[in-house]
Amino acid sequence: MRPKCHIETYGCQMNENDSEILLAYLEELGYESAASPAEADVVLLNTCCVRESAEDRVYGKLGELKLLKRERPGLVIGIAGCMTQQPGVGEAIARRYPYVNLVMGTHNLQRFPELFMRAREAESTLVDVAEEPEEMPAFPRGVRPGGVTAWVTILRGCDKRCTYCIVPYVRGREMSRPLPEIRAEVEALVGEGVREVTLLGQNVNAYGKDLAEGLSFATLVEELDKVEGLERIRYTTSHPRDFTQEMVEAIARSRKVCEHFHVPVQSGSPQMLKRMARGYTLDRFVDLVARIRRAVPAAALTTDLIVGFPGETEEDFERTLELCRELRFDKSFTFMYSPSRGTPAASFPGQVSLAVKKERLARLSEVTDALSLESNRRQLGRTVEVLVEGVSKKNGARLMGRTRQSQPVVFPGASDLAGQLRPVRIERVNTWTLEGDAV
Ligand code: SAM
Ligand code: SF4
Repeated sequence: MRPKCHIETYGCQMNENDSEILLAYLEELGYESAASPAEADVVLLNTCCVRESAEDRVYGKLGELKLLKRERPGLVIGIAGCMTQQPGVGEAIARRYPYVNLVMGTHNLQRFPELFMRAREAESTLVDVAEEPEEMPAFPRGVRPGGVTAWVTILRGCDKRCTYCIVPYVRGREMSRPLPEIRAEVEALVGEGVREVTLLGQNVNAYGKDLAEGLSFATLVEELDKVEGLERIRYTTSHPRDFTQEMVEAIARSRKVCEHFHVPVQSGSPQMLKRMARGYTLDRFVDLVARIRRAVPAAALTTDLIVGFPGETEEDFERTLELCRELRFDKSFTFMYSPSRGTPAASFPGQVSLAVKKERLARLSEVTDALSLESNRRQLGRTVEVLVEGVSKKNGARLMGRTRQSQPVVFPGASDLAGQLRPVRIERVNTWTLEGDAV
């Protein structure tokens, strides 16, 4: 029997893709995947530090793992990801949780097999949190069993300096993956049955800037549009500042790129945008949305919003509510501002109390949820194209898939339809999902 490994992922899709890469390395070393830490010989936590709550969950998990390690001293525990890349955190974990075998960061992912082998044999915690590499390392293709959809990282790091955000500190500067490598990965995935890829980066619109003159996200999209057998291309996240008209048009022209634009605005207050150093004005954002809707009339528009940023007044907050009502986002991801150590905003004056943040989040969610429901209601009676991803987790008799606009759809059908595009007539909707029948 092969030894087993279990990886827990916190945070964003980039981390999910990194966990798939870690699993690929572990499979090369002879491990197979286990459903829970209790069944595993190796447990890895791939961490996030964007919000405090994510870090708290990791520390909670480390407490639980201590008990497992007491029962089974041979258990190997490793921590990777953004949390440990912060100054001093790796060493602090080694001190407070000496039963952890390996602490590594985001910049040495490509050295995982070597670090893991060393840590497995070592007497004490191996802490290796590297400086960022000179160039983008080549990674094995991530393991994502039997999927219809897959992540493909196109860019690592971020060159922006939004004042609230820890990402540039823990993920380093922007580094694009060479286009031929991306194309080869997409082609290989398609060969294995993948029909939809999501291109990943903190700021996909910056793709190619560091590689060659004239190479951009627009040219990448045009290239991938030619991959035969690939049905859909998605991407996340795009930064409104770098979203050029050329890119909007390339997306509009492409057959495969889905009609879904995730453009995080963060706030509807011009003052807050300035203090967040987002690099666009409210007018420019509103103009981008208008350009997107002109070029791609069927576009779904989603966004990220932060409430309670330092200095946010009731009036500033109300501007966010107004913006949502004006632009009618199809879906919004809403966050309470969480101070990240070492970022400028953490020491800005005018920190907002937790009670006010909670109250604003509740009011904002009420508005954005109502808009999502309204957006879904517009689909009632329509026939939409669904890419079937598999059996619904909640109801084994139903299938789950997504529209091109990325709305989840459930409908009755047989599991062998996974991977196929099906027309589905929408009969019922709620805030988060559409329900219908195959046509
Ligand atoms: N690169 C993407 C962009 O610029 O839109 C987003 C990456 S970030 C990991 C995802 C979302 O988390 C952000 O859009 C923002 O809304 C939220 N976020 C980031 N830092 C935050 C913080 N300190 N407190 C609350 N929300 C935060
Ligand atoms: Fe963070 Fe801003 Fe970079 Fe997004 S663009 S990862 S919010 S610094």
